[in-house]
Amino acid sequence: MILVVQKFGGSSVADADGFHRAAARAVRERQQGRAVIVVVSAMGETTDRLVELARQITPSPSRREMDQLLATGEQVSIALMAMAIHHADHDATSLTGGQIGLRTDRRFGRARIREITQRGRIESLLAAGHVVIVAGFQGVDEESNITTLGRGGSDTTAVALAAAFGAEVCEIYTDVEGIFSADPRCVPAARKIERIAYEEMLELASLGAQVMHGRSIELALNYRVPVHVRSSRSEAKGTWIVSESPEMEKVVVRGAALRRNLARIALLGAPVGSRVAARVFAEVSEAGLIVDDIIQTVSGADGATNISFTIDADDVADARALAQRLTREHGFKAVEIDQDVAKVSVVGIGMRSHTGVAAQMFKALHEAGVTIENINTSEIVISCIVRREDGEKALRAVHAVFGLDREQPTTT
Ligand code: ASP
Ligand code: MG
Repeated sequence: MILVVQKFGGSSVADADGFHRAAARAVRERQQGRAVIVVVSAMGETTDRLVELARQITPSPSRREMDQLLATGEQVSIALMAMAIHHADHDATSLTGGQIGLRTDRRFGRARIREITQRGRIESLLAAGHVVIVAGFQGVDEESNITTLGRGGSDTTAVALAAAFGAEVCEIYTDVEGIFSADPRCVPAARKIERIAYEEMLELASLGAQVMHGRSIELALNYRVPVHVRSSRSEAKGTWIVSESPEMEKVVVRGAALRRNLARIALLGAPVGSRVAARVFAEVSEAGLIVDDIIQTVSGADGATNISFTIDADDVADARALAQRLTREHGFKAVEIDQDVAKVSVVGIGMRSHTGVAAQMFKALHEAGVTIENINTSEIVISCIVRREDGEKALRAVHAVFGLDREQPTTT
């Protein structure tokens, strides 16, 4: 039997009506003869509220207890979803991450899925005609400690189930109509993308597009799970995230993204010939800091080494302490911390076969009066570091110059 996985995000199940609408979709699939696994997130802003509650108790809650707490949100949702489907006269059974044996490693708050041990339980429920409802975002480690997959992690649960059970599609229901060429709150001219390649979506997710959990796209790519991101309030087609096809390369830039909240740490003036970079970044990664761009320069006159890197601005406190220690240990002369940088990027597999894309982007930024502080390119991405205050202007400028506000050639 054909299987579909339907994932409903918190905004789609914010209240009783939301559950009934979601239930109706699942039931409709069943009536058309397909097996259905539903994955749900916590209702509305529940997870944020739980985070805030913990913060009222202590500024540094234990990571284990934090996961124990946050996982409760999804447990509420699965039970209510099952009730909504029962109310529509259909069989449904809800299961927690632990109940399906969704095993993860023990990295509380950002655990990775290892395997699903209770496949048989899901298979027999599906065979008996039940809609199987699984709690998103949560798993258990080897000792049955509850773990969570990181904020937004229900997407990853859904794609993992779709991959494990060979689903025809993983539908991600949300409060927007799909993936847009840029965040419409900042770029009013942004348009819904019809089809986007996994690689493009992966880049956009890591570059600041907040629609989907990055890890879920990696899984979708690895297992070639077609993902359909769409609105839970309409029947309109959303965005398909799929394997790339030759026609998709006709579009040079598929989307643009802005990461607003970056900081740059510069370690200046390490003595000549000291091979500091390896040691610095070993310690940076040990501290759990996720580094974005890295620049190393050797200054002409005295041959001293300067290293700078960007990180999420939320990590500045950790980074500051580390930078001060590194400075002492490796003989840097000074540390500079700039908390006001942003990064604007364009992404498209079409860049592989088109030239002059970077030049076009730099010209557009220049004409918009935006100063480029650093440039980073890879096969399908060009990114520029800019002042945070210029971020939105920069995003609009690149969005326009690549024609993203116009209808794209169809790629189906
Ligand atoms: N409820 C979790 C969160 O808010 C997981 C999710 O929604 O995907 O991050
Ligand atoms: Mg989400």
